[in-house]
Amino acid sequence: MAGKKSEVAALTNSITTIKGVGKAASEKLESIGIETIQDLVLTVPYRHEDFRLKDLAETPHNERVTIEGRVESEPAVLFMGRNRSRLQVRILAGRHLVKAVFFNQHYLKDRLSPGMTVTITGKWDRGRQVINVSNFKEGPKTEQADFEPIYSLKGVMQQKTFRRIMRNALDMVADQHIETLPADMREQYKLPAIGDALEMVHFPTKPEDVKHARRRFVYEELLLFQLKMLGMKKARKDASEGIAIAYDLDKVKAFIMSLPFDLTNAQKRVVNELCSELKSPARMNRLLQGDVGSGKTVVAAIALYAAITADFQGALMAPTEILAEQHAATLADWLEPHGVTVAFLAGSTKGKARKSILERLASGDIDLIVGTHALIQPDVVFHNAGLMITDEQHRFGVEQRRVLRDKGMNPDVLFMTATPIPRTLAITAFGEMDVSILDELPAGRKKIETYWLKEESLHPVLRRMEKELVAGRQAYVICPLIEESDKLDVQNAVDVHSQLSTYFQGRFKVGLMHGRLPSDEKDAIMREFSEGETAVLVSTTVVEVGVNVPNATFMLIYDATRFGLAQLHQLRGRVGRGAEQSYCILLADPKSEDGKERMQSMTETDDGFVLAEKDLELRGAGDFFGKKQSGLPEFKMADPVHDYRALATARNDAERLLASDEFWTGHEYAQLRKELEASGAMSIERLD
Ligand code: ADP
Ligand code: MG
Repeated sequence: MAGKKSEVAALTNSITTIKGVGKAASEKLESIGIETIQDLVLTVPYRHEDFRLKDLAETPHNERVTIEGRVESEPAVLFMGRNRSRLQVRILAGRHLVKAVFFNQHYLKDRLSPGMTVTITGKWDRGRQVINVSNFKEGPKTEQADFEPIYSLKGVMQQKTFRRIMRNALDMVADQHIETLPADMREQYKLPAIGDALEMVHFPTKPEDVKHARRRFVYEELLLFQLKMLGMKKARKDASEGIAIAYDLDKVKAFIMSLPFDLTNAQKRVVNELCSELKSPARMNRLLQGDVGSGKTVVAAIALYAAITADFQGALMAPTEILAEQHAATLADWLEPHGVTVAFLAGSTKGKARKSILERLASGDIDLIVGTHALIQPDVVFHNAGLMITDEQHRFGVEQRRVLRDKGMNPDVLFMTATPIPRTLAITAFGEMDVSILDELPAGRKKIETYWLKEESLHPVLRRMEKELVAGRQAYVICPLIEESDKLDVQNAVDVHSQLSTYFQGRFKVGLMHGRLPSDEKDAIMREFSEGETAVLVSTTVVEVGVNVPNATFMLIYDATRFGLAQLHQLRGRVGRGAEQSYCILLADPKSEDGKERMQSMTETDDGFVLAEKDLELRGAGDFFGKKQSGLPEFKMADPVHDYRALATARNDAERLLASDEFWTGHEYAQLRKELEASGAMSIERLD
């Protein structure tokens, strides 16, 4: 046992114990977060430089190449002003006599003389038979590794120095690496053991080494991540620290019967999922995904009403005042006849009105509060919060979503999103949550006819729009920007509004809506449109989320290539909400293949999940969610999109492991268990 102890100590030893690491080097490494030998060896390179010798005859133009050759001429230096120089020399590599050019490295002149052998790496200019040298070594290639790892060192140290330290460290801890993956799992997936994988990634001898090692690290990272996500979920369910909401089933049924329509099968299924979770003492932490128009609001209303019948309060938070107000009106319509007191709270609710609402909320007088971010202000206090729902959750930051949950004693929380999320991202960004899916539109909806046209087709489009307006319908016109910008040649709302106002003058009223208007003005404009006073609404993407004006049947989107697919789909979802046939026209002149593909996809499908997958494929995970709101974790090696197969495998394995006895007792899983516990996932406090 004593021996074992000292071995373990070695990995956790400070980097100062590595041969060749003095005070200066250790300080530099510490500045980039490397303190122990373990930290060091787990610092994996982000890419590898390929120094294998290649035949110039087979190297394409502009590709990097390494050659070994003999210097055939005296080096010549040309100075070109301050600190700039060009050194050039002829080199014979096999049958090729090429020119090697070194920029700003005139000092190499003294190290080059005719007859000597050199190894150079650089970009190959095939036409001019020139190599622009980026890497130079005296002597033959044998002295250089075929692949050199490149680490992200933030400039604190040379790659070469770092590699030397790495070599010494790996030699010191040779067999002491901590293996997380049990042997049978490694065998099943043909993954190298940790020690081998580290050797392969830091000092590969062939390209397969890197690939092989990477597979292991990616799987390991994803497995641990999924164990953590599912571990959190399990801890939440086991802990029964939530509230059991004993709702009144008869009342809930009566409410559903009173609705102006029958629920779709998908809505019924989701209502059941929500109700059985309300009843259980485990805390609900659920994501409801439903395509635009699939009817999430009514599902939310039913769940909220159920909580209210058990004397709990409910909250529904929406990202914009317009949407919140619309929800408040809809829910009041539906629920007030059933004795529910509904209140609305937004930034615009001020003074006495606000004070009174806060008091009535704190006393339990208000059953259901609908509002914007105003709901998460510190002075908003609930009497007995039971169910907190966030609509269009992707419009809120991760933090904001949490605050609402913390407004009560472990209330159930539900997040709703109309941006269908591809499964790979869903199990990454929302891996610890349960997911409900509304995958059915209410009956009788007509497919929105979508066309992609070039900008010059505007006039026929306007005539088509006019036809709808004459028939009493309404239209949206969406523009990417508010005002004219000299940098970007894109249509802007202000311009388009004035053009259309002239075009429809005396016949139809055209409204203008954008995010920079004060919110009371926005509301007024939106109300005019939803009441049919304005026939056409020119708008930026502020109408993207949730707004419901069923009489609008025509949408024209300018510069459609400037929007992502998920966003276009959301925008399009503003029409097709009533019984009439609706149309969506995309004006776009995409230059890129991607752009063309996106426009094409929009005309071909109206399935949000299909478009979401496509969007992810074309734009990657970061752009899919947009900047700060993603909640996507940062992985060291894995990329949930690129490594989606490994991700799905890791998810399944994590599920299976957590449900198995071996995992909780087996010796070979000890390390996985330890890391899972260290991540905090198994304690209820860390639940978020
Ligand atoms: P979203 O899921 O995009 O938020 P909404 O909840 O706004 O969709 O619903 C869109 C429209 O469909 C609303 O006018 C709503 O009243 C209506 N609706 C919801 N469910 C049904 C249903 N089962 N049958 C008919 N219409 C429905
Ligand atoms: Mg909605």
